[in-house]
Amino acid sequence: MSIYLEKASSIYEQVVDIRRDIHRHPEPGGNEKRTSALIRETLKSYGIDKIDSPTPTSVVAEIVGNNGKGRTVALRADIDALPINEETGLPFSSEIDGVMHACGHDLHTAMLLGSGKILHDLRNELPGTVRLIFQHSEDTMPGGAKDLVQKGVMDGVDALLGMHNLPTENDKTGVIGIRPGPFTTSADEYWFNIIGTGGHGSAPHKAPDPILAAAQLINVFQQLQSRIIDPMDTIIYQMNKIDGGHAANIIADRVRMGGNARAYTSETRDKAEEFIFRAAKAVESISGCTVEVEAIRGYDACFNDFKLTEMIKKYVPEILGEGRLEVFDRPMNFSEDFSFYSTLTGIPSALMILQAGHEGDNLYTLHNAKCTVKEEAMKYGMAAMAGLAASFLNSNC
Ligand SMILES: [Zn+2]
Ligand SMILES: [Zn+2]
Repeated sequence: MSIYLEKASSIYEQVVDIRRDIHRHPEPGGNEKRTSALIRETLKSYGIDKIDSPTPTSVVAEIVGNNGKGRTVALRADIDALPINEETGLPFSSEIDGVMHACGHDLHTAMLLGSGKILHDLRNELPGTVRLIFQHSEDTMPGGAKDLVQKGVMDGVDALLGMHNLPTENDKTGVIGIRPGPFTTSADEYWFNIIGTGGHGSAPHKAPDPILAAAQLINVFQQLQSRIIDPMDTIIYQMNKIDGGHAANIIADRVRMGGNARAYTSETRDKAEEFIFRAAKAVESISGCTVEVEAIRGYDACFNDFKLTEMIKKYVPEILGEGRLEVFDRPMNFSEDFSFYSTLTGIPSALMILQAGHEGDNLYTLHNAKCTVKEEAMKYGMAAMAGLAASFLNSNC
């Protein structure tokens, strides 16, 4: 058994206690006061004293080996909870009404504390520095990652690793998933105000019809995947919100609708946006309505650096033993602001998936009020993160 898995096993019970404490006291994005205080206290209790809070509720700490010489690798966990009322029935369920750690960031936080403890214990053997980033507000746009990059948390960093848990079938518990290249989608919103004049239903030739224009726009967006984007690439687009009209015999004066676009590359994303604006102009021209488009750029797509992915594939079996690495043949279809640490800096990164099983008979996925995982997965997650950080510093990856 590797030293990392051995150490992770020896602190596992403590890490479970920390996870349950955080799970009982979830805090939504930007309000992680208790959580960040707990992180600082725990780090201090381990003897890690280089601790900073670049924003009010984030925590960044450093474990310095080799007298500060050598490279720096950063490990990131997100710490925020979601506005969901927990329905898991777990004995350590949320004690805060309407707030729940339904994205497993309680696990991420507890695991990164565990990895920090392991690496601090081994600091005399580290040929470089490990920076621990406990990020606020991942699940609330615009996300905390951008803030932290602007505050300089990536300054001097050579590579970044992250890990997101995922409820899975129980036989996968503790198996790390990775894939080189595109790994999560970008997430953008497009809002449309379609403005007419309103009119009597008996005189359609006298008033432009925003509802018809909305229907045309919804239809034309079906061309995004079928005609605009290369069939080998992916765009995910739906119109998920629509409001308009007054009565069955009145021509509406306006419609407001909102859609959601996701892509794995910035080229596809930009091409889709160009078409969305072009389609709006075309519908404006044929409908006689004014069509205003508001583009809200959300998270970038995550791209797993090829060299880092190779390193992960090489060392995870050494750290965790055989059978604990899965190379996914497909990327994930969610979004993560983990992407910004690389897209805003050019520093390579890799995001892994910690397959985490589930409690009870049914599998409920992330962001569900009944979502659960097997805590045992944390043992493998924290060992992998600690071991990979040390492997990066020791290798010439
Ligand atoms: Zn989430
Ligand atoms: Zn998450």
